[in-house]
Amino acid sequence: MNFLFESPLFQDAFETLTSAATTMNLDPNILERLKYPKRALTVSVPVRLDDGTIKTFLGFRVQHNMTIGPGKGGIRFHPKCDLSETAALAMLMTFKCALVGIPYGGAKGGVQVDPNELSRQELQALTRRYATEINMIVGPNIDIPAPDIGTDGQTMAWFMDTYSQLKGYTVQSVVTGKPVSIGGSLGRAESTGKGVVFCIQFAAEKLGMKLGSNTTVAIHGFGKVGQPAADDLVALGAKVVAVSDVTGGIYNAKGLNIKSVNEWVQKNKFLKGYPEAESISNEQLFALDVDVLVPAAIDGVITKDNAHTVKARIIAEGANGPLTKEAIQIVTKKGAFLIPDILCNAGGVIVSYFEWVQGLQSFFWDLEEVNKRLYRILRQSFDKVCAVQEQYRCDMKQAAFITAVKRLETAMKLRGLFPS
Ligand code: GLU
Repeated sequence: MNFLFESPLFQDAFETLTSAATTMNLDPNILERLKYPKRALTVSVPVRLDDGTIKTFLGFRVQHNMTIGPGKGGIRFHPKCDLSETAALAMLMTFKCALVGIPYGGAKGGVQVDPNELSRQELQALTRRYATEINMIVGPNIDIPAPDIGTDGQTMAWFMDTYSQLKGYTVQSVVTGKPVSIGGSLGRAESTGKGVVFCIQFAAEKLGMKLGSNTTVAIHGFGKVGQPAADDLVALGAKVVAVSDVTGGIYNAKGLNIKSVNEWVQKNKFLKGYPEAESISNEQLFALDVDVLVPAAIDGVITKDNAHTVKARIIAEGANGPLTKEAIQIVTKKGAFLIPDILCNAGGVIVSYFEWVQGLQSFFWDLEEVNKRLYRILRQSFDKVCAVQEQYRCDMKQAAFITAVKRLETAMKLRGLFPS
């Protein structure tokens, strides 16, 4: 299965898993099964473009492990999406769901496409054809997709509608991250960012840091995760001094007015040109002398080459895999407190779980209920990972993997291997 190792993200996840296995003395038979995805599907997604020509895109859905429950994980529309990266992200989903104790396995999907280059009609056609091509391996009890980079509530609405057309009746719970008017959950849109900020609060409390007007924060990525995280950090009184997107970063030492940045992005789509700040590069953002750094865009942005420039005391991995394995070792050695991705950004899939439960029961909760339950799960998970870190004296990433793999080990041993 050498093709799996083509992406740095898979290599990293694989190495983190194997080193966690050594640290915890994992049964080698369990490790052998966790190293590889259970199932991987590659599909062609032909789309008629607005100019009448047909273009074919490559699509994937990978199910890594389904011992604890149906597969769960987002769909990514990104030009760099490939089978290896999708397999890595599916593996991270298995560990994420096991870590926070929700009854799912791990899966991920994606299409190799730049969604910004397609019209709305083309995107709809792409989504519907992709949904059709993978429909035989998804379903409310099989594998439940959700948004990820390049996809959103609208994408989920098209996916759910296509799946429902194929079935002949409405199947709300085939996806999560839907708009509230068609069975989505209150709070799902902001849930990943909210979870990131809960984890930052827990970390600050552990380090004896008070989050307030003296706390400075830099956020890499001002999208579905970074933007709501900025809102919540400002609500706590912290100073968000820098944020960035694909067009670069903006910086204001006195703290950005996030409300006005939000308005600017709503109007202009990108941060570029925002007047009340200096422009900085993403590299400069990582190196800022801030208390908290939130890399919330994409994987592999902090590596062995730039990790030594990071000065933040708390690093909250809002994205999946933003720090490479080597980078984590460097920042940990420097004394930074790392909140690992499968804990830090788990708020999204936790509220996806709430959405799935609410949809299956056709009984919907208020926002307070959603956020209260989200807080409780993250609090318990954070404390558990810290306890495991202290027990094994490993880094926080390994501690998170160990916590997850222990739960998987118990479940896999109870279910056994078929055929025996
Ligand atoms: N794509 C998100 C993640 O990486 C959410 C997955 C979900 O809600 O199923 O965790």
